[in-house]
Amino acid sequence: MPDAASSSKLGRDLAFVGGGHGQTNASSTTGLLIDLSWMNSTRILHNVTLGDVKLTTAISYQGGAIWKQVTDYTNGTGFTAVGARVGNVGVGGFSTGGGIGSLAGAYGYAIDRLRALEVVLMSGKVVLATKTNQYSDLFWALQGGGGQFGIVTTFYQEAIPEPRSSEFGIWIVARDSWARARQNTVKFFDSNNDPFSLMYYSLGYYPEHLTSGSLTITMVIVGIRFADPHGQSASPLYSHGNRGNGTRPSGYHTKQKTFNETFSDLLDGLVLKKASRYKLPYGQATELSAPFFPYGYRRGFWGP
Ligand SMILES: Cc1cc2nc3c(=O)[nH]c(=O)nc-3n(C[C@H](O)[C@H](O)[C@H](O)COP(=O)(O)OP(=O)(O)OC[C@H]3O[C@@H](n4cnc5c(N)ncnc54)[C@H](O)[C@@H]3O)c2cc1C
Repeated sequence: MPDAASSSKLGRDLAFVGGGHGQTNASSTTGLLIDLSWMNSTRILHNVTLGDVKLTTAISYQGGAIWKQVTDYTNGTGFTAVGARVGNVGVGGFSTGGGIGSLAGAYGYAIDRLRALEVVLMSGKVVLATKTNQYSDLFWALQGGGGQFGIVTTFYQEAIPEPRSSEFGIWIVARDSWARARQNTVKFFDSNNDPFSLMYYSLGYYPEHLTSGSLTITMVIVGIRFADPHGQSASPLYSHGNRGNGTRPSGYHTKQKTFNETFSDLLDGLVLKKASRYKLPYGQATELSAPFFPYGYRRGFWGP
């Protein structure tokens, strides 16, 4: 671990920026700023040994990449990593801050999937940290501690199966149906047991027209269903309270519901001003969700 004196230089004398999406300006400095964005390659590694860790398949991504670069590489390979819901988020801040992706319900947060980290310490020394080697404290700290312990030059996530497809529904809800939409949302969160299906609604100011620039208050509901690679309503990696240990709880052997079956109750009784449906490869899903992501001037709410 870097000592306290050297780590306190971070931010004052030195900072590093990944995708630049951190909203707290944590990559700001009055000193030297290192831009990691040219370190952006991804690889799929089979039967790999990383220090004291052996993995059947790992996704390695360099610390300056954005998620679109990772999914562009993994698209169609059958393997992927838990990444951000929007493609231009940097892997660096995301993977050291928690990392809640669309597939987190099925496979856990990105930090749960990390198996090794190549890190440049403040001393300049390059180390490989794993959960069980001599840098296990550094590994632990980087699983949520952000960019204060060193620069992660390469992340190694244990690979997950790439969903075979992604289906999106984007529904603009008429004003009179907003209250009902909220109630339906709560019911959906209570009853949905498919970790590959999720929804969010966003209520806020959206451009009325892309060229006019005028804003109007709009409620958008987005429903997303990823085709479970196992064809089941719950992945073998998923169980309530016992996530990621490879066991399938009894009662979870049912076939995954279709898109219409999954979201019919959510849309029940709603008057829609507009409805759109898309089906696309998982690798392109983050591009579709970007314009609707409830950040910035929009106010939104995500479900589990
Ligand atoms: C539009 C949008 C969508 C988002 N979607 C999601 C989402 O779906 N899920 C989610 O969990 N979060 C999401 N976030 C939050 C995002 O994960 C954080 O803002 C994250 O910190 C962004 O990382 P960055 O590398 O792009 O940011 P930066 O501002 O470059 O970095 C943030 C911090 O991480 C440090 N850092 C960057 N790279 C490294 C590295 N290689 N090693 C060590 N430290 C590093 C920086 O020094 C800084 O302290 C979203 C944010 C936005 C703006």
